[in-house]
Amino acid sequence: MAVDREFYICPVCFDISKTAGSHHGRPMIHCEDVPSGDEMLRPECFEDGNLKSRAPRWFLQAVRETAGLDMLDFDDHP
Ligand SMILES: [Zn+2]
Repeated sequence: MAVDREFYICPVCFDISKTAGSHHGRPMIHCEDVPSGDEMLRPECFEDGNLKSRAPRWFLQAVRETAGLDMLDFDDHP
């Protein structure tokens, strides 16, 4: 039996909603169920093993696809 674990998350303040909408003038990101143990739950790392971000991959990918933002770009402009 499928469990409904889809939700929408705001890329700015991480507010969560069960329905699509926008927050801060940006579309909320649609998140689908990710199986436990999936690579997508792990943070992205550089080849030397340092974390690119503490956010899980599914989130970074969803932000890129849905909002056109690359959260990792923010690291280049401290
Ligand atoms: Zn928000």
